[in-house]
Amino acid sequence: MRSDPADYQLVAPASLRAVVSLLAEEPGAWLPIAGGTDVMVQYAAGKLSARKLVSIWNLPELRRIEVLSDEIRIGAACTYTDLREHEVVKLEFPLLASAAGWTGGIANQNRGTLGGNIVNASPAADSLPALLAYEAELILVSVRGERRLPYLDFHTGYKKTKLAADELVQAVCLPRRFLGYFSYTRKVGARNAQAISKACIAALGRMSGGVVQEARIALGSVAPVPLRLAETERAVKGKSVDPSILAVARKTAAAEIRPIDDIRSTVRYRSSVAGNLVAEFLEKLSISGAKA
Ligand SMILES: Cc1cc2nc3c(=O)[nH]c(=O)nc-3n(C[C@H](O)[C@H](O)[C@H](O)COP(=O)(O)OP(=O)(O)OC[C@H]3O[C@@H](n4cnc5c(N)ncnc54)[C@H](O)[C@@H]3O)c2cc1C
Repeated sequence: MRSDPADYQLVAPASLRAVVSLLAEEPGAWLPIAGGTDVMVQYAAGKLSARKLVSIWNLPELRRIEVLSDEIRIGAACTYTDLREHEVVKLEFPLLASAAGWTGGIANQNRGTLGGNIVNASPAADSLPALLAYEAELILVSVRGERRLPYLDFHTGYKKTKLAADELVQAVCLPRRFLGYFSYTRKVGARNAQAISKACIAALGRMSGGVVQEARIALGSVAPVPLRLAETERAVKGKSVDPSILAVARKTAAAEIRPIDDIRSTVRYRSSVAGNLVAEFLEKLSISGAKA
């Protein structure tokens, strides 16, 4: 059924404080809208159950990228264009800059925000594996104050998160300790642009003395939530990359993921591609010269 604009209320308070106060007055009644690229799709499809929308698009507190000595803090309402054009993001967090560059087309990158991608909580979201690889932390804010949460703990199940009804994601913090790591990321979809991933990977690694010193591997679209492959990382640590360890990595990765059949792909295809992506990462890492 078509949505009727008269059924909806949209407000745009001028400060973060005013927005969190509004959320606290009626927890769950107001739906934050940032770029609107997910919310407006639901609206156009007549599936937007929330009737009260509060815009957070223009809040200066959410639109800045702060570069501190030990981390960068990306305001939740920063867009993909903000990310892919930022010098420190490009240099130190290339997995995130790449994901920003293939999230929809240019129009979508000008409106879609990192916070929206996180809270929309799609297992296929393109920026989220990078956040896992970089061990991101989230700053959540409400009238009660701020709390910091590892991003790894934020998604608790399909489309489920730890965000309270009166909270916003304020910022995404990335530690500045991955410069020099080998980075590998790929999106596998029907096309390179304007396609939802069938599977995607963001991975970091370092070699030492011909063996894998550290591997940090995250996949999207292969489980109800974006997944860090902790067992696979452990299985390859301290090993040289040869056919036998590639076979172990494929097998361990297959055991960690929980793909589904859906309109975009199948369990069989996703499992096979996930194994290929992990193996390709390890092969490229081993010849990359990225040392500890
Ligand atoms: C044409 C098109 C192509 C797309 N392609 C891709 C793609 O390739 N890859 C991909 O991953 N996604 C894609 N998307 C999905 C979408 O663009 C992203 O998920 C985007 O990051 C959403 O951000 P937004 O600011 O537009 O979110 P909104 O639509 O404003 O909000 C989405 C959800 O997040 C909540 N929210 C937003 N910000 C906050 C916050 N700071 N705190 C609390 N809650 C918040 C909202 O309440 C809502 O529930 C595409 C969408 C379109 C329309």
